[in-house]
Amino acid sequence: MEKVVIIGTGCAGLTAAIYAARSNLSPLVLTGTMPGGLLTTTSTVENFPGFPEGVDGYELMVRMQKQAERFGARVKTLQVVESADLAKRPFVLTVDGERVEAQSVIIATGAGHRHLGLESERLLEKKGVTYCATCDGAWPVFRNQPLVVVGGGDSACEEALYLTRFGSKIFLIHRRDQLRASKIMAERVMNHAKITPVWDSAVTEILDPKKDTVSAVRLKNLKTGAESVLPCAGVFVAIGHVPNTGLFKGIIDMDENGYIKPKQGSATNIPGVFVAGDCSDHRYRQAITAAGSGCAAAIDAERYLAGLGT
Ligand code: NAP
Repeated sequence: MEKVVIIGTGCAGLTAAIYAARSNLSPLVLTGTMPGGLLTTTSTVENFPGFPEGVDGYELMVRMQKQAERFGARVKTLQVVESADLAKRPFVLTVDGERVEAQSVIIATGAGHRHLGLESERLLEKKGVTYCATCDGAWPVFRNQPLVVVGGGDSACEEALYLTRFGSKIFLIHRRDQLRASKIMAERVMNHAKITPVWDSAVTEILDPKKDTVSAVRLKNLKTGAESVLPCAGVFVAIGHVPNTGLFKGIIDMDENGYIKPKQGSATNIPGVFVAGDCSDHRYRQAITAAGSGCAAAIDAERYLAGLGT
């Protein structure tokens, strides 16, 4: 019987693991399919306190995991929760076909990349359509070629700036005429000679699924209705995130977009089940706020277990 199982190893899950481990709860920590979470796919994190020169996202997560393991967290890499029976205690999780019983659970499953929802996007995923410039930007097919980034937030700006190392020109396609990104990121993008914003525009099709490769995007100007075709070798979609909470639908209270709604602190509608990080946060979505909520969830779990006499 596990005292606490932590699902997810982004900033929230690993911070919860550090705190739970330091409380001698020996947490079982399940990484799912993306150990370290979305931060591992970013380049330099410049706003995590304590790193004045910035820190590589992947390195930050490796360090967090080591810190948790140092105090006794048991991190199981690539172990995926297939089902969760949270109706009564002990909670029962099915993890890669194995039954795991737990007295408390911390859900820190994060969020995944939002898709444009185009059929051509689906057909060309990993064939020139990607959701991570740091992971895929250096592919030889993108070198010295025009590339497209879709979105107007910090992620899109970060992707565009990163891709300037590889592409001949970066087109930033945004559906409005103003970036949502923070001022500092927006200024960097607007001042970069290699980046050209394309305002008020939506990608309506990615060409060419018949050739099994990306050759262009079809654009529609949302103000004028004018259509155009922009040649490019790659499409980087950076239009936000959707919470990874499908497993808990109908069990844990969520809002209409699938974000888990904490009741008090990190508590959910099920006593003993706590939530942390981006799967419950559509407002801040920062590494440091995820880490803070992971800390809170571990403290809440510890107090809950103490109340049970564990
Ligand atoms: P975001 O801030 O939600 O921005 C998503 C962008 O995609 C918006 O510009 C939005 O347009 C656009 N969009 C959404 N759905 C779309 C659709 N179906 N088709 C076309 N465009 C669509 O998401 P994010 O950029 O991933 O950032 C998430 C959070 O992480 C933010 O809090 C951000 O500050 C943080 N972050 C920070 C950094 C950094 O500080 N370096 C880096 C990455 C992320 P509208 O503007 O019209 O809504």
